[in-house]
Amino acid sequence: MGEGTLHPVEEVPSGGVVEENRGGEALVMDGRREGVHSEEVPFASREALMEAIDALRRKKNAVILAHFYQEPAIQDLADFVGDSLALAQYAHRSQAEIIVLCGVVFMAETAKILNPTRKVLIPDRYAGCSLVEACPPAAFRRWIDRYDPSERFVMVYINSSVEIKAMSDIVCTSSNALKLIQKVPEDKMLLFAPDEHLGRFLQRVSGRRRMEIWKGRCIVHEEFQADEVLALKRRYPGSKVIVHPECNEHLIEVADFVGSTSALLRFVQTDEAPVYIVGTEEGILHQMKRAAPHKEFILVPPITGCVACQQCPYMKMNTLEKLYWTLVREEPEIVIDEELLWRARRPLERMLAWTTAQ
Ligand code: SF4
Repeated sequence: MGEGTLHPVEEVPSGGVVEENRGGEALVMDGRREGVHSEEVPFASREALMEAIDALRRKKNAVILAHFYQEPAIQDLADFVGDSLALAQYAHRSQAEIIVLCGVVFMAETAKILNPTRKVLIPDRYAGCSLVEACPPAAFRRWIDRYDPSERFVMVYINSSVEIKAMSDIVCTSSNALKLIQKVPEDKMLLFAPDEHLGRFLQRVSGRRRMEIWKGRCIVHEEFQADEVLALKRRYPGSKVIVHPECNEHLIEVADFVGSTSALLRFVQTDEAPVYIVGTEEGILHQMKRAAPHKEFILVPPITGCVACQQCPYMKMNTLEKLYWTLVREEPEIVIDEELLWRARRPLERMLAWTTAQ
């Protein structure tokens, strides 16, 4: 994962002059996917590559934001590491000229919507999300239009496209969804999309009666199974099961704690258990091991038994090499139609306001 080809060169180039030094050779694009940065970089070691990224960041007044599911080296380089809510809040108040979002596209889009005057970049423009794909705008429009706008309240998970956000009344993340749902008037039909498991979890814990849920799923959290967890609990007495609410309800039923990635991280810092069985993407373990080095963390095995299924294939599209070229070339840039951006901004701003309100 993230181990690109390292090519020794005589001189380590400084930021922004690579094209001249290499005569364009280093900027050959990956032919399999048009417009994707080459994994080849002009550095003899990974340390030199990381130093070059750091120098470019400073030179260009750029800030690197990384999600917890990014590879450890990217997390270590980032100015800020967080979950979707924290990344959105950070991007909203950032004064940097360039924001590089090391996460998936909907996160970079959110950063652009909340800070439209900044240049927002993402190392791999194809870093999508199965939840975004599961919610096409035209079908979503038909789904919400079964109710008059005066009768409905549309809440969408941040893991959705700009078009879906623009049709919503409020956006939520797994960190704030419960708090926000409790503020929605009871007489409204609450339409929640696109994550089915998160929606069902929220309905159960909030007791909300008038609620309909879109049937989208996360391909990573969907794979974690309760049977495996019970076997692990027997093998590790005193362990606790902590899972993300995107997991299926069978897993949630056997969990000791359910929460967003930030909440899971806080939990292992304050709780007393020696071992945690973790039901979320493997990238979070990097921060957990840092926060509680004396504790043991075991990922829930996926139903396939395939270790790679514990990793989000979209999140792992970003690599150090692509991050380097992104800073050099200042692309791929997130560009959003202005009218669409402002329609999507309103529900995001409402989310930020309701999150901090009492
Ligand atoms: S882990 Fe799941 S929800 Fe998160 S980006 Fe990957 S596919 Fe989307």
